[in-house]
Amino acid sequence: MAFHPVFKDQEPGAGGAGWAGAGGTGAPAVDVTGEGAADQYRSIFENAVVGIYQTTVDGRYLRANAALARIYGYQSPSELTSSLTDIARQLYIDPETRSHFAQLMAEHGVVEDFEAQIFRKDGSVIWIKENARCVRDASGAISYFEGTVEDISVRKAAEAKIRQLATVFDGIAEGILIIDPDLTVRAANPAFEAITGHATASLIGKVPALIAPEFHEPGFLAQMLAEAAAQGRWQGEATCLHQRADFFPAWLSLSAVRGPTGAIEHYVLVCTDLTQRKQHEERIRYQANFDSLTGLPNRWLIRDRLDQAIARAQRNDSRVAIAFIDLDRFKQVNDTLGHRAGDQLLTQVARRLRACLRLSDTVGRFGGDEFIVICPDAAERAVGTKIARKILYAFSDPFDVLGQALFVGPSIGIAFFPDDGTSADDLLRNADLAMYNAKVNKPRHFSLYSAEMRRRNDQRLTLENDLQLAIVRHEFVLHYQPCVDLQRGRVVGAESLVRWNHPTLGMISPSVFIGLAEETGLISAIGYWCLRQACTQFRLWRRAGMTLDSVSVNLSPRQFQDPLIVTTVAEILADTGMEPSHLELELTEGAMIGDIDRAVATLENLKGLGVRLAIDDFGTGYSSLAYLKRFPIDSLKIDRSFVRDLEQDNTDVAIVETIIGMARSLGFAVIAEGVETVSQARILVERQCFRFQGYLFSHPLPPDAFEQLLAGGGPQLDLAAYSS
Ligand code: C2E
Ligand code: MG
Ligand code: MG
Repeated sequence: MAFHPVFKDQEPGAGGAGWAGAGGTGAPAVDVTGEGAADQYRSIFENAVVGIYQTTVDGRYLRANAALARIYGYQSPSELTSSLTDIARQLYIDPETRSHFAQLMAEHGVVEDFEAQIFRKDGSVIWIKENARCVRDASGAISYFEGTVEDISVRKAAEAKIRQLATVFDGIAEGILIIDPDLTVRAANPAFEAITGHATASLIGKVPALIAPEFHEPGFLAQMLAEAAAQGRWQGEATCLHQRADFFPAWLSLSAVRGPTGAIEHYVLVCTDLTQRKQHEERIRYQANFDSLTGLPNRWLIRDRLDQAIARAQRNDSRVAIAFIDLDRFKQVNDTLGHRAGDQLLTQVARRLRACLRLSDTVGRFGGDEFIVICPDAAERAVGTKIARKILYAFSDPFDVLGQALFVGPSIGIAFFPDDGTSADDLLRNADLAMYNAKVNKPRHFSLYSAEMRRRNDQRLTLENDLQLAIVRHEFVLHYQPCVDLQRGRVVGAESLVRWNHPTLGMISPSVFIGLAEETGLISAIGYWCLRQACTQFRLWRRAGMTLDSVSVNLSPRQFQDPLIVTTVAEILADTGMEPSHLELELTEGAMIGDIDRAVATLENLKGLGVRLAIDDFGTGYSSLAYLKRFPIDSLKIDRSFVRDLEQDNTDVAIVETIIGMARSLGFAVIAEGVETVSQARILVERQCFRFQGYLFSHPLPPDAFEQLLAGGGPQLDLAAYSS
């Protein structure tokens, strides 16, 4: 406190002229020694910038100067002294303040730097600081208090703000450095210590090494400072030094703080540690680009790498090979051994693929059991074969899945940039198609894409669409091929064979569309129609007096596995009035693999309806000779592939002989399919097979042609002609 007005100890209220324009208030004048001195004091009193007062001990103003009136918001000292008559209650916000003040006075005789909040005349609140002392009479009793008042509101507000800022400074997660223009540190907050590892105390007064020089251009710091000076602030990412001598990524914001003269007083550097954010970004990037199970690039990164490889190949005028790999039987592994087994298999496949290819090749998991390999430097198409061989070799050892040795084969399709497509999408699509081709055309396990493949596939898709409509458009027809019995010398049955009379493509063979119908599920509707049509036709022929023992209808594997097949057959028999014993259903061995017990049960149920059962294309299937005994069947149809080469191939003769012998011992009738020549028939007759189907006797015929054939006495059937 710079200014201590000194008044002579004197009883106030002792009369005399009022001072300081406080005239008319009745306030006592101060008796000073000497007139000149009194004037000086009065002048000081009146013109002082600090408020000056005298009060009674019980809290009434005796005198106040103009400054005090101004501070408290009164027009004049006299207004103040007349209005403020109870300091404790009227002035201080907290009435206790006055008793505290009085207590200090009583104990020490003075009050120094006493701060309090008070009401001004208009009710507003300000902070003041008082310095005061007791004025005592001769006996030592307190006559009055006198003191000075300063308005410290501005300072208080600044202090509050500083306190707030200090809380922020100390509590914020960002590191903050206050730096002098000479770059020495003036202050550092706790976060700065936490982020950089530098103890605050060790920084103050020093020039810190914050930026890691090896990660930045030589003039980086100077540039930061220059920009902060020129534009007020520099912001950017930087690699900073940690006290442990390693680095961390940070976002820095450097502000220049200028004083009233415009000169830079200091810099404020705010440092945000980006380590976690970077790690997080990295993790997200990883998750977005890599498959979590195998650690291989995922579909997105594969696309990206392929785009890059294509761009590079375009510049270098070179080739890229893309291999699409799909595991055979993966679903089976998953279904029978569980997902953990599936995961183990995929991880090992990923490892083997990665190991068998060059580092410059990308191996990725496209999804499920599909993998992609991108070879960016395939000089020629022959490289595709090489890659396929390498991959196949990698699959030649069994995989260890849950302790079991498991052989899993891949199907590989290969496409090349630019030969087979110029966009990543096209190339992936074409490699996929080649893979599909490899899968259905085992046992090569791989195929290189060709335009022909796409054409066939497109055709297939068109066909698939058309097939959907074929039933409602009544485009199917049944042809009938006679089955002859040379011993009896007549046609004993007719096999119904479906044809698709396509509006633009003409007559389409079942070998083209039955597989498609199976895959699309249309087979049940088509099969249903065929069965019903064959029964209806047979009934018509019988009613017309034709002697025909039976009609055969082919059932595809999928139809046979349909849980409703028995009901369906029963329903059609009933609807058409077909005598069950006249219907023969032909099944291939392929239809019965898998769950043999279930197949036997279905066969028995069908048999229970009274129909006859035949095994078609016998000998081509999975050699279920062992099961054959269990099947309640009536006949075996020897596949025409054995019949075809009977004249040239003794092995086939032996096979046919065996089939005939076995069938006979099991009590089955034997029918030879695809008999085209007399000598084939002779060989068969020699081996006691007398039933034939084949072009030698008749092609499959439309119903009316079939009728005519039979009406004309049927094909020429002279057993003697076939006996040697
Ligand atoms: P599949 O049941 O073994 O029928 C015999 C096939 O051999 C028929 O072919 C027939 O035209 C042909 N064929 C008959 N004799 C000879 C011959 O001497 N030499 C030669 N090279 N071939 C002969 P198609 O009609 O093309 O039928 C092919 C296959 O399509 C059938 O083989 C059968 O598996 C299936 N299929 C035909 N119709 C139906 C049907 O209605 N439903 C089902 N599910 N499949 C059918
Ligand atoms: Mg057949
Ligand atoms: Mg057949």
